[in-house]
Amino acid sequence: GSSDGPVLPRYVRVNTLKTSMDDVITYFKRQGYTYLGKARSIQELIDFGQKSGKLFLQDLHIPNLLVFPPSTDFHKDSLYTAGHLILQDKASCLPALLLDPPVGACVIDACAAPGNKTSQLAAIVQNKGKVFAFDLDTKRLATMSTLLLRAGVTCQELANVDFLTVDPSEPKYHKVSHLLVDPSCSGSGIPDQMRVLTDEAGSEKEARLQALSAFQRRALSHALQFPSAQHVVYSTCSVHQQENEDVVKDVLEQHPDFRLVNVLPSWPMRGLNTFPGSECCLRASLSDTLTNGFFVALFQRRSPEEKRIS
Ligand code: SAM
Repeated sequence: GSSDGPVLPRYVRVNTLKTSMDDVITYFKRQGYTYLGKARSIQELIDFGQKSGKLFLQDLHIPNLLVFPPSTDFHKDSLYTAGHLILQDKASCLPALLLDPPVGACVIDACAAPGNKTSQLAAIVQNKGKVFAFDLDTKRLATMSTLLLRAGVTCQELANVDFLTVDPSEPKYHKVSHLLVDPSCSGSGIPDQMRVLTDEAGSEKEARLQALSAFQRRALSHALQFPSAQHVVYSTCSVHQQENEDVVKDVLEQHPDFRLVNVLPSWPMRGLNTFPGSECCLRASLSDTLTNGFFVALFQRRSPEEKRIS
């Protein structure tokens, strides 16, 4: 990072399939860390990002998320290797948290590898019910199996397939009520990839964004076809309107049975004002929310009463 602007802290998600927030806080205190309690504002997090040493906070928005100074590295920590801790950026914890399937629910993670969000979904449903997870990439799916094993996830069913070819009318998906769609994107919200994109020639970049956003529309639209879908969350780690608000706007127009949920009203950064209701979506960035660049929209099926009125 630069010397003046905010610096991304090290976020650590506590895996409640294997441990508890209290046990992890006790562990770090025994390791000589000072616990500063729960953050009260984004400004407090921004100030914390400038610190170093053995300190930590509980996050302001995400339950089970701890915040450490940027220089902290847990890749060799025994709690990490034992699957008690998941190293996941704060913004990428939002989709599963906002989808919030009930314990025992049937869930689909449409583009799932390497599986951080799948493991979070499994923790939310408490390993009961089912998480169907799909990915096209064999290697990434293999990495995902290792990650889920380490995280103690047992309710998953992985498949190496194109999500667009998964048939929503298949009986095994009849009970799927919650879907998470986190498709391939430009990654322009991740600092290093930003550089790759800006180095690309304008026309190449345009073509790539167009191809990505076409796939994103199809994937999100496909998720809304599942007969029992009540909630569908869409996310990207892109900062481009074409991959975010534009996708949501088009898909909403194609699916009048669904509406957007106004997620986390206290979150300061909202969707770009490009269509009525875009403020229901949320965005994230290093300067505004001390996270990677990110976008989330939550769709909810309209109730039968709501349809009669409109
Ligand atoms: N949700 C993952 C996590 O939190 O760890 C990250 C997903 S990554 C942004 C997008 C994934 O979509 C990639 O692993 C890619 O292989 C997969 N993918 C791309 N096209 C797909 C398709 N048609 N069907 C299923 N997965 C696909």
